Amino acid sequence: MTEITENTRRIIEKEDRLLSYTTRVPYYPLVVDRAKGSHVWDVEGNEFIDLLASAAVINVGHNHEKVLEAVHEQVDRFIHYTPAYMYHVPHTKLAEKLVEITPGDFEKRVAFALSGSASVDGAIKAARSYTGRNHIVSFYHSYHGTTIGSLSVSGYGSDMRKGMGSLVPDVHFIPFPDSYRGKRTEECLESFRELITMIVPAESIAAVIYEPIQGDAGILIPEQAFYIEVEKICRENGILLIADEVHTGFGRTGAMFASELFHIDPDIIVLGKAIAAGMPLSAIVGRKEIMEAWHTPVHFFNTAGNPVSCAAATASIEVIEEEHLLENAVTVGNYMMERFKDMMTRHECIGDVRGSGLMIGVDIVKNRESKERDVQTTAKICYRCWEKGVILAFFSGCVLRVEPPLTMTMEEAKDALDIVEASITDVENGLVPDSAV
Ligand code: PMP
Repeated sequence: MTEITENTRRIIEKEDRLLSYTTRVPYYPLVVDRAKGSHVWDVEGNEFIDLLASAAVINVGHNHEKVLEAVHEQVDRFIHYTPAYMYHVPHTKLAEKLVEITPGDFEKRVAFALSGSASVDGAIKAARSYTGRNHIVSFYHSYHGTTIGSLSVSGYGSDMRKGMGSLVPDVHFIPFPDSYRGKRTEECLESFRELITMIVPAESIAAVIYEPIQGDAGILIPEQAFYIEVEKICRENGILLIADEVHTGFGRTGAMFASELFHIDPDIIVLGKAIAAGMPLSAIVGRKEIMEAWHTPVHFFNTAGNPVSCAAATASIEVIEEEHLLENAVTVGNYMMERFKDMMTRHECIGDVRGSGLMIGVDIVKNRESKERDVQTTAKICYRCWEKGVILAFFSGCVLRVEPPLTMTMEEAKDALDIVEASITDVENGLVPDSAV
């Protein structure tokens, strides 16, 4: 069982006092010391199997040798020179790779930034300047980030908007399909049609921004029919498609990009999180004519496209390709989904299991009929997993977030899920006190 000392408590107390990450979910005290592959060690020496992968950032596993080599080599050459004045190879090499691997057989251009949020802002700016239109359509419960622009197009929890004053105007929200608890495909499409016929004329809408699979909303996977119709409406009306693949990109869903699962070539694709295996980087890849419609340097950051991050990103993409991580994500992901479905036969608290590749959500409910979210049981399961040596987190209040590195082996997956099931049993047997969470 995981044990911690005063050392961990002191670090946590200090960090809580000095840093204002209000999004951290403090249900277990883990101070990371080192990490390798699918394993993390805390400062006390406790070892954990990682089912979180730093929130879907570490797709190629922690500290992959090839990524480390690329980073070391670049650090030895130079750490940064602003792209406002100079060219550099890591930058260009990565742009070339991104153009090649992103969906869409058309000429593309790339812009780098440092966070998913900043790249979402860039995508909105590009869409507006290219179309000359102002309005943006987004979806309820979507998460696109925390800068003022990305927050404005996020339909996620209203608390994030509290006290922020006026957000970016002319953003409209419609429902996203949620076959378990929410609206069906046809209702969502009806809302879109209603919006463009009764509320905002289609010819004033610049873009629809969407997560191909909504992540933070609890892993909501629409049917193909939804995207066929959305794409049709957009194409008929000159509305651009902005796919926010910050969460789903780089193999997470078993495809390099989730847009491929739905056979969509978005006009602009937003990338972040796993792009550089944990180094700070994000990007927008878009149709040439859209990306060239703005005046330079309209979306520019001095430390964007950092050469060390770019080198890590190129190496990380090569790892995904060379080690066949898409196939592994599908194989291990299917195994995990099956195991969770099997657990449903023994554990009433599991209401639904859904996912694609290694983007899996396990919905914890008070009652399968009512589908009422069981926030406390969910937090307790995660806490017990921490006690037993597995890093597990949740989103949307009650959805266990199963998103390990794509390098996870079957053995690691089996070991981790044995612990998850034992933890669920312990929580059912009252072994985790309410005070723990
Ligand atoms: N878009 C999506 C779909 C995301 O999941 C996130 C991060 N959770 C973001 C944008 C924002 O990325 P960042 O935190 O790097 O700004």
